[in-house]
Amino acid sequence: MSDKYNPYNNFLSVLKRAAQAVGLHENDYAALCYPERELKVSVPVRMDNGSVRIFEGYRVQHSTSRGPAKGGIRFHPDVNIDEVKALAAWMSLKCAVVNIPYGGAKGGVCVDPSTLSAAERERLTRRYTAMILPIIGPEKDIPAPDVGTNAQVMDWIMDTYSMMNGYTIHGVVTGKDPEVGGSVGRTEATGRGVMIVTLEVLRQTGQDPKKVTVAVQGMGNVGCTAAVLLHEKGCRIVAVSDVSGGLRCESGLDIPAIAAYVKKGGLLKDYDAPDVHHISNDELLTGACDILIPAALENQITASVAERLQAKLIIEAANGPTTVEADAVLEKRGIPVFPDILANAGGVVVSYFEWVQNLQELTWEEKDVNDTLKRVMVRAFNEVMEKSKKFSVNYRLAAYAVAVERICTAKKKRGIFP
Ligand code: GLU
Repeated sequence: MSDKYNPYNNFLSVLKRAAQAVGLHENDYAALCYPERELKVSVPVRMDNGSVRIFEGYRVQHSTSRGPAKGGIRFHPDVNIDEVKALAAWMSLKCAVVNIPYGGAKGGVCVDPSTLSAAERERLTRRYTAMILPIIGPEKDIPAPDVGTNAQVMDWIMDTYSMMNGYTIHGVVTGKDPEVGGSVGRTEATGRGVMIVTLEVLRQTGQDPKKVTVAVQGMGNVGCTAAVLLHEKGCRIVAVSDVSGGLRCESGLDIPAIAAYVKKGGLLKDYDAPDVHHISNDELLTGACDILIPAALENQITASVAERLQAKLIIEAANGPTTVEADAVLEKRGIPVFPDILANAGGVVVSYFEWVQNLQELTWEEKDVNDTLKRVMVRAFNEVMEKSKKFSVNYRLAAYAVAVERICTAKKKRGIFP
């Protein structure tokens, strides 16, 4: 991986600029440059054909200054230690921006889950859980879904951890199915948070959702939910994409039909409907729209994409979709970016609600989950806007600044052991 696209370098460079912008001394934030703990594991899995394959996995705990470490587990062929370190660091910042009492962590296994049978996926999940078991737990580090994992994978993690301890421990992981301690509203929470932030941007800039056009990169859980909810609010979704390709329709795509199609496992390259054109990933990112929502992987909006894109603003549903160079281009062009650690925090916020429900052995109604999520997201949004105004910095630097100040304050109050 070139240094330019190393997501951990991206994190470090933004961290430094944000700390400088708000006058933090290097001593204050030095510890944030280094993850507290990195675990690398080899995960042997017996495949259905009787062979044994060894997969490489990680769990990185970036910070526990504000509470237990928290963050998802990714199953993807591009998973590597620098990516997991960056994703863990962004979790620390994300939890601090929305002010929930967690630090940050992330885990991952280098695997293409689509090539595994359900039984292989289960064995991989259970053995990976056993390998990271010494450092996870409801008071220590709480995993959750990310790219390539889902509620079923979380259910297996919960069961494996519980079996190893001899009793059911719901709070070890969030994003479970509701039947086994999951929170209602958790699956949709990240996409719902993206919708809440988008509507808040429109409200505060006096725009009518029914008059804006939106392009969404990625039709996974987050992109798909965001598209569905924004469509319900009246936005015209003119373009969407998945790994196989993109679709575009000037009069607006039939999002409920597309959502049903991708949920059944359909690839967009094979999707067919009147007035719908097939487009490339580059065309999705640079095509005409008011709002661009990257909801796939890191480093999608490069400097070259940033020079050419036509969106008037960007809402980051993915983690780290914009490179540092692209940020500079967008700033020069006056295109605001509502950053990942704010815009996609809805998932971890409802993870927090799930964990709270698990610790108290009670369940919330969906309305309470969604209303409380909205309150937390809008509060965080306004705090980031204020910080941006106060220090005349872009929203990414402002969000980092809010987060870094909170983490550094917690660090200072706790002091250094021993
Ligand atoms: N993987 C999600 C994220 O990147 C959710 C993490 C969580 O709920 O702990 O924010």
